[in-house]
Amino acid sequence: MNIPMVDLQGQYRKLKTEIDTEIQKVLDTSSYINGPAVNEFASNLASYLGAKHVIPCANGTDALQVAMMALDLKPGEEVITTTFTFIATAEVIALLGLTPVLVDVLEDTMNIDPEAIRNAITPKTKAIVPVHLFGQCANMDEIMAIAEEHQLFVIEDNAQAIGANYTFKNGTTKKAGTIGHIGCTSFFPSKNLGAYGDGGAIFTNDDQMAEQMRIVVNHGMNVRYYHDFIGVNSRLDSIQAAILKVKLPHLDDFARARNYAANYYNNAFANCEKIITPVTATFTDHVFHQYTLVLNGVDRDGLQKHLSDKGISNAVYYPVPLHQQKAYRDERYQDGAFPVAEKLSANVISLPIHTELTDEQLKFITDSVLEFVEK
Ligand SMILES: *Cc1c(COP(=O)(O)O)cnc(C)c1O
Repeated sequence: MNIPMVDLQGQYRKLKTEIDTEIQKVLDTSSYINGPAVNEFASNLASYLGAKHVIPCANGTDALQVAMMALDLKPGEEVITTTFTFIATAEVIALLGLTPVLVDVLEDTMNIDPEAIRNAITPKTKAIVPVHLFGQCANMDEIMAIAEEHQLFVIEDNAQAIGANYTFKNGTTKKAGTIGHIGCTSFFPSKNLGAYGDGGAIFTNDDQMAEQMRIVVNHGMNVRYYHDFIGVNSRLDSIQAAILKVKLPHLDDFARARNYAANYYNNAFANCEKIITPVTATFTDHVFHQYTLVLNGVDRDGLQKHLSDKGISNAVYYPVPLHQQKAYRDERYQDGAFPVAEKLSANVISLPIHTELTDEQLKFITDSVLEFVEK
């Protein structure tokens, strides 16, 4: 067997007729940039999310950058985010001359710790960027309360949790990415809603922020060739939008298939003391962008080799927290500064999770993991 982390081929085969037709339509009209497919997809995504505005852009990293540019954050101002995430989150903060303020995560959900956010606030703090890691939401009741108290912007990095539902303390629900002032997502092929190339989008319910972000993604231009702001060129191309338009109606089914695999794994590992299965917080559902175990006294390198030798892909997200990355080394954060993230980085392992996993594959994977762990 050869089991990839993500089976893009298998999923494409199921949707091939529809996807090929939509790609052909773009080719037949040659409207490659800002064609009808882009607007249609953006409008469909806005309805799905219950967001007033969806602004397509070139990738998830740009989405975060555009959000921060539109909020007119100034060099030296501080943006609080998690140290346990993909680099993009902190990268754009640093690129804009803002100061990334990193905080630790909660041991169970691996999401940003609201108490740690509270403790990191200074008079220079302007925004919080929670990342909905691996497919479940951070604690947005707490984060929005902190933001309101201190007049901060909240930009949700929703690259990994598109489609997840958040339930507030008062019982109302919202889609991940539509709770803060701005939500950002990525359509990188392996994401839950993946294109066949790069893509991204920004969501907001605020008319003014939406207008400013539309200007920023378009070279800071409102009236053609009149540039009122410094912007960027960040577009979702029409072929990617056509593909995404076909896939969007299947997103909830994709989440169900991922949950089926996650449940299979959870059950198989339930009685193994050396494996801690993912913990989902009560206020969110989980769309399992990644299925990540925490190992307890297991030789992780050995397990990775054991699985790879059997053709089972596996990965460590993330082997080094941001504060220990060479490019982001900072005297504010010594080793040991964020013990939870450091411990997780040393002990997590992610197993294949996607929409095409069969029971036979799941059995082979879980048997193989247990064979090594319990030997
Ligand atoms: C994938 C990802 C991004 C960046 O998305 P790209 O489209 O690859 O630029 C940002 N943040 C997180 C948490 C991600 O997982």
